[in-house]
Amino acid sequence: MTEKNAIINYMKYAGVKAFTVKAALVDCDGVLYDSMKNHSRAWVKLMTKNGIKCSRDEFYMLEGMVGTEVIKTKFKSGAGKVLTDDEALALYGVKGRYFRELGEVPMIPNTLEVLNALKERGIHSVLVTGSQQVSLLERIEQDYPGIFGERRVTGHDVKHGKPNPEPYLKGIAHAGVKPCECIVLENAPLGEQAAHAAGCFTIGINTGPLSEKDLYKAGADIVYPSMEELLAALPAILDNPEL
Ligand code: MG
Repeated sequence: MTEKNAIINYMKYAGVKAFTVKAALVDCDGVLYDSMKNHSRAWVKLMTKNGIKCSRDEFYMLEGMVGTEVIKTKFKSGAGKVLTDDEALALYGVKGRYFRELGEVPMIPNTLEVLNALKERGIHSVLVTGSQQVSLLERIEQDYPGIFGERRVTGHDVKHGKPNPEPYLKGIAHAGVKPCECIVLENAPLGEQAAHAAGCFTIGINTGPLSEKDLYKAGADIVYPSMEELLAALPAILDNPEL
């Protein structure tokens, strides 16, 4: 898929005559931070300790869902248990502890460069994540200085997490632009689904073990194997002079 084809295709199905990017909606895990390895390890530990069978890749497929929803879903399907909100929240606290015990996660290489390049063009970024992980959310201003400010939608702010479009619709409202004026940076299928349903041009950055196909199938308009490749492709996405 070339940038030009992806944009033409998007404009056609979105029914828009221009593609002018004014805001970027940016996911956290797997986009800002290389954190999914540790998240999936923590999830598997929590489930195994509670007698629920699971595989690591399941949590890559569920990535983006609000944490307490992941717990409710897995406990119901894996152990036939219906948890209350308080029970799910307590278990999410345990998962958070396992996650923190695995140590500090590194930033994804080149994401800061991408976000700074967007900022130089006057394109502001809004954080849109299902995460409620305080340890990570608190690091963002330090690691990505001046990028998001108060423009944040987290797992605490939404009723329905990804794949529901609500987080991205809230992000669009934060940015004060139209859906067709936003690009979304996402690494997970449920996130691509949510962004696509919100009407945004959805960019998949495949930083995990899933296949590109999983991201395209979920609604990504274009997929890159790394942030480095997205950085190189930014002019082709933003300038598109031939359109
Ligand atoms: Mg993610």
